[in-house]
Amino acid sequence: MPARFQAPRGTFDVLPDASAARAHIYVTAAHAFERAGYGRIETPAFEDTELFARGVGESTDIVQKEMFSFEDQGGRSLTLRPEATASICRAYVEHGMHRLPQPVKLWSWGPYFRHERPQAGRFRQFHQIDLEAIGTDSPLADAEAIILLSDILAELAVPGVTLRLGSLGSHATRAAYRDELIAYLRSHESELSDEVRSRIDQNPLRAFDSDHEGTREVMRDAPTMLDRLSDEDGAHFEAVKSSLDRAKVAYELDGTLVRGLDYYTRTVFEFTSDVLGAQSALGGGGRYDGLVSELGGPEVPAVGWAAGIERILLALDSPAEEPHLDAFIVAPESRRELALEIATQARRAGACVDLDLAGRSEKGQMKQANRSGAERAVILSDDGSALLRNMTTGSERPLDTGDIQGEIAREQAETSE
Ligand code: AMP
Repeated sequence: MPARFQAPRGTFDVLPDASAARAHIYVTAAHAFERAGYGRIETPAFEDTELFARGVGESTDIVQKEMFSFEDQGGRSLTLRPEATASICRAYVEHGMHRLPQPVKLWSWGPYFRHERPQAGRFRQFHQIDLEAIGTDSPLADAEAIILLSDILAELAVPGVTLRLGSLGSHATRAAYRDELIAYLRSHESELSDEVRSRIDQNPLRAFDSDHEGTREVMRDAPTMLDRLSDEDGAHFEAVKSSLDRAKVAYELDGTLVRGLDYYTRTVFEFTSDVLGAQSALGGGGRYDGLVSELGGPEVPAVGWAAGIERILLALDSPAEEPHLDAFIVAPESRRELALEIATQARRAGACVDLDLAGRSEKGQMKQANRSGAERAVILSDDGSALLRNMTTGSERPLDTGDIQGEIAREQAETSE
């Protein structure tokens, strides 16, 4: 029967056989964050549109064409969050976190929404893990953030990972470099793509991101920000590299690295995997020293990153997982209530136990027990006796009917030893 309703384009359902692999990523990341002193923050799935217009940047693709915005009943414009940083900085300001000992180290995970053209690895609702260290300009914080993402990807055994590292300088050096780049682009205008040409003044750095052949040719000889770093920015960058070297985190320097968001200053980085296709970015981020004040807070420097759960899953290519079951209870009609009672007690004692809830015959229930992958079946009889069947060997033994849940728990403990 064809489905009458389907998930909206670019969204997807996570079915049970795929959920264990996702949970593994969250748990691995959560432990890594906690070991490093990051506290978890959760912010709403939607915010005032103005927050993202300011916090992500008016000239970015995200704000110009990718936001899911809507009006509420009061005529106020709201937007489904396209990324985490702006919301977390809003929360930092709103809750006066600048009065806490700095930096405030936060992490988060959840769904994000961008109206993009759906393709492999690119969705309209996707999920990220996110880290922010707000309230420090130390290069050690940049390095700690990068090392944590590197270690999470390594612990998950994501294959083919490369870290690209660059620096965009501070606002002043970036402004001077920007003027130089605009002049360079103007002198090559006829060779550029229409899109890049129309946005030379708005966002010249994006020309480095272009797929257009002519533009790429021009950008090969363009000056990069790494060539123009001020002494201070250069020293900051050297310190970040030195800490990465000490942590044995390998990186490639990339003077053309431009992150999609407007707010970055100094360090920028991106992790890619060569087993992914066109959408090869696993995650990335950088320093954003001007954002908190842009959002009405104090002058507070910060650094952070986000990584895509679906991209990590694609790179891992994890096989679907069978749920684990210690026992499946098979019962005749007269013992169905007892079966649920035993299952409940065994679950309360910590065992994974399932039973038939659809009125199947005993033969049907045995089949179901087989299909479920349960290690054992508990077979109840009309006369009140019970058998424990090992589903791998087929061996059976009688069970103490007074303590079936205890027997299941003991068997489970023995096998998991
Ligand atoms: P960004 O905030 O654009 O730097 O995104 C951080 C990471 O989130 C990227 O490196 C991707 O792994 C992931 N990501 C971003 N946009 C999408 C999307 N539309 N679908 C799936 N993953 C995404």
